[in-house]
Amino acid sequence: GDYLNAAGELATSLSGRELFGNLQEIEVELGRVRKVLNGPRTIDLDILLFGDSVIEEGGLLVPHPRMCERSFVLEPLCEIAPGVVHPCEGKTIAQLLEDLREKGTLASRDERGET
Ligand code: ADP
Ligand code: MG
Repeated sequence: GDYLNAAGELATSLSGRELFGNLQEIEVELGRVRKVLNGPRTIDLDILLFGDSVIEEGGLLVPHPRMCERSFVLEPLCEIAPGVVHPCEGKTIAQLLEDLREKGTLASRDERGET
């Protein structure tokens, strides 16, 4: 069904790992409501970026491994952080979104046999 996406920025003294634990707790708490209502996923909380950190530990991957392929992630992120540089790609969020749009345009041209 329809879903709502948003990106937020926060300052924290927690480590990436601790923040992740807290987000998971919130997901579980809200997931309990979902179970009762038997509906679709209530909420999905992801850490997209954590400063310039690259984290790969205990199932946590930061930057979020699928963020660059998802316009529903890059679009709201670009609203708040267009100039932030992705620490692995070396490109700003605005550039990554541009690249993704370009790929999408090329793919649909390809489908129409225009390339
Ligand atoms: P997605 O967020 O890609 O739509 P899920 O919410 O189902 O997919 O997450 C799949 C798994 O990814 C979760 O079990 C979570 O533990 C793990 N994960 C790894 N890195 C991250 C991250 N940076 N933010 C959120 N979840 C993450
Ligand atoms: Mg998730």
